[in-house]
Amino acid sequence: MAAHCVVMKFGGTSVGDSKAIARVAEIVRGRLPHRPIVVVSAMAKVTDQLLQMARAAGDGDRQRALILARECRERHYNTAGELLGTALFTQFHSDLGSEFEELEELLRGIAAVGELTPRTTDHVAAFGEVLSSKLVTAALSAHNLPAAHVDSRDCIVTDETFMRASPLFDDTNARLREFVAPVVDRGEVPVMGGFIGATRAGVTTTIGRGGSDFSAAIVGAGLSADKIEIWTDVDGMMTTDPNICPDARRIKTISFEEAAELAYFGAKVLHPATVLPAIQKNIPVYILNSRNPSCEGTRITARAPHCKNFFKAIAAKKRITIVDVAAPRMLLAHGFLKSIFEAFDRHRIPVDVVSTSEVSVSLTVDSNESIPALAADLAKLADVKYEGRKAIVCLVGQSLREIPGIAAHVFGELSDVKIRMISQGASEINLTFVIDEDQVPSVIQRLHKRFFAELDPEIFA
Ligand code: ASP
Ligand code: MG
Repeated sequence: MAAHCVVMKFGGTSVGDSKAIARVAEIVRGRLPHRPIVVVSAMAKVTDQLLQMARAAGDGDRQRALILARECRERHYNTAGELLGTALFTQFHSDLGSEFEELEELLRGIAAVGELTPRTTDHVAAFGEVLSSKLVTAALSAHNLPAAHVDSRDCIVTDETFMRASPLFDDTNARLREFVAPVVDRGEVPVMGGFIGATRAGVTTTIGRGGSDFSAAIVGAGLSADKIEIWTDVDGMMTTDPNICPDARRIKTISFEEAAELAYFGAKVLHPATVLPAIQKNIPVYILNSRNPSCEGTRITARAPHCKNFFKAIAAKKRITIVDVAAPRMLLAHGFLKSIFEAFDRHRIPVDVVSTSEVSVSLTVDSNESIPALAADLAKLADVKYEGRKAIVCLVGQSLREIPGIAAHVFGELSDVKIRMISQGASEINLTFVIDEDQVPSVIQRLHKRFFAELDPEIFA
């Protein structure tokens, strides 16, 4: 059954060494009455190293692949040694040993064939979460917690798109009820690896880099958890970047849409799209700090509670280029915008902000080396100019469309700043504009002072 449970996801740095894992054990102990399910990432950097091994083997460099595997083995052994008593360690040692034997066998096989496919890549990459989940299970037991390892490949059923597989929710939910719920109902703590799953036929898959947050949301949604906790190493989402504004404050509660907007424009804490399965089922997601567990963090919910401040946060995205396309002869020409967007598409360059007039279009893109080629292509259609070192500033808040004079409030504050593009109203929750990159600190400081001097205590810490 397992209604009434909480999913606790710990990222790579939260399980990065024995001290971090010991902290995890104590945090989990504090949640025992809430019936926790633990989802872990691989130890920090391990996924990168596994992919390195796989590539080395694929290039036929068997020796290098095996040396990297040995380093990885030692790190896991050492961490286990520090965490576990003698009896547990002896038992765990042989379990870990057979995992590493399998990994080395696989690397030898890849090196012998000299070819790395997405399917074998996933097989190698999955070891990180298999190992960390077993290690954390043993560590919880060593801390006298009733932990039980659950192999995510038995529960997360995916399609066959190796390296970024999509979960098959009906199958997955049935498996979660079969393999995870009974463990919780027995009063034990299931520990699962994030990021990994398997096809219906049982072939190992992964759901894309950084996928453990998604795994936590899949598990939480599948079991109708009360909440999902994403444990990281920051206190939560902030009103703005504290490196720019030392008086930035923690946001206690934010809507999914607002959080998604912030992530898109530079806030790096969490990609909210990954927790969508939970939000769709109205399960709140918390961002919490495993180094400061008593901090309440940030709660992300489907709908935002009322906030007295206009805005929840200000984000900036630097390294932006503005592309200006002007075509007087194309005045009102049908299909002009379409051909412009087709050019961006051919060069696989995604566009962020767009503004148009009758005869011209300005678009922003992340600065990158394919822009000159794109510009040459666009020059066949119209006059093209592009200019780098720009930044997008984005203010996020609920129902901005409803607030009279909101733009005047913002731009009145910035009357001496050269604003290159403005976009408001495309979504109800953001007001976006483009400025020179070197203006970012002063613009953010001024806006923060203007809009966050007084804070709604329900929303901000
Ligand atoms: N270990 C995987 C990665 O590094 C998944 C995750 O950490 O979320 O991408
Ligand atoms: Mg991660």
